Amino acid sequence: MDTVSVELGERSYNITFADLPETLAPRRTLLVTDSNIDSLYREQLCKIIDPVDVFVIPAGEESKNAATFLDICRRAAALHLGRDCRFTAAGGGVTGDLTGFAAACYLRGVRFTQIPTSLLAMVDSSVGGKTGIDIPEGKNLVGAFHQPESVWVNTSFLATLPQRELGNGLAEVVKTAVIRDEKFFLFLEENSANLRDANNVELFNKIVRRCCEIKADVVSNDEKESGLRAILNYGHTFAHPIETLSNYTIAHGEAVSIGMEYAGRLALELGLWQKSDLERQAALLDALKLPRAIPQNISSQDILELMLSDKKNRNGKITFVLPEKIGSVKTVSGIESNIILKVLGER
Ligand code: ADP
Ligand code: ZN
Repeated sequence: MDTVSVELGERSYNITFADLPETLAPRRTLLVTDSNIDSLYREQLCKIIDPVDVFVIPAGEESKNAATFLDICRRAAALHLGRDCRFTAAGGGVTGDLTGFAAACYLRGVRFTQIPTSLLAMVDSSVGGKTGIDIPEGKNLVGAFHQPESVWVNTSFLATLPQRELGNGLAEVVKTAVIRDEKFFLFLEENSANLRDANNVELFNKIVRRCCEIKADVVSNDEKESGLRAILNYGHTFAHPIETLSNYTIAHGEAVSIGMEYAGRLALELGLWQKSDLERQAALLDALKLPRAIPQNISSQDILELMLSDKKNRNGKITFVLPEKIGSVKTVSGIESNIILKVLGER
């Protein structure tokens, strides 16, 4: 069986790439899924998982809230699920984050397995153990680290994924290549014409596998984000304010794509990397039909202010992850506001 192992001492687990999940000890399992996955795959999933019950959440970020989190816990309690039960999430990042958080809290922690069905969840949110929910004050402000028992990746789920969602995942794929692996970046360039065809199972297996390897390597070295793990935030310092200021009409991956363009411009302004590197990144984003421009109605000043109030920048200094070349990044803080505003341009 093709696996990537995430080395975290006694919390280590495998990501399995296969038509069927790795065999785990049979347990009373609560399957959590969203309304889209439920209508497309319920029968298939129930055959494989054999759950005691299926909890279906409405598709979309709005479900990642405290009420739904409690509903999952209450369903588990009503089913008299004990410490030896398992929560399984089948869906995108929303389902995974929410179910993982419920698994981290129900009876102070029960087993959790993940079946990511979106590209974003396969390459990003299903590796690393971050779980959580949104509150009215902000996204992901309440959560916990809770590593899964196992993750099963089957890229044939991608065949039904809407193109816009595919693009969101592709942005994180490009991010992963830029921060860590020039050879992988070259592979993406060479295959860019085929990356919008999610039916290409073989190609997506390779891509998802490489992203999981890289993320597993980073996370194994820094489980709780004290150092190295920060590099996974490449593009995200610009992305988060842009997502927020667009009232979430710009999706996460789209904002990350724009964020990488601007992090790249900032790196150029500071003399960290070459113009040709920035152009190479831009060409790949364009080939994947990902956005690079900030909408004109979002002001540079507002972006800067939101960056300063981000939970990761509470000391008044913004930390950026900036590229030194394709395949390598470093964290830089203390950049003066006027330089950031210059890079953001007049708007
Ligand atoms: P994320 O982008 O973090 O994965 P979501 O969990 O909201 O966020 O998933 C994005 C959207 O894609 C949701 O509407 C979800 O129902 C849908 N989706 C996820 N996987 C698939 C799939 N394999 N086929 C069809 N739709 C999917
Ligand atoms: Zn992201």
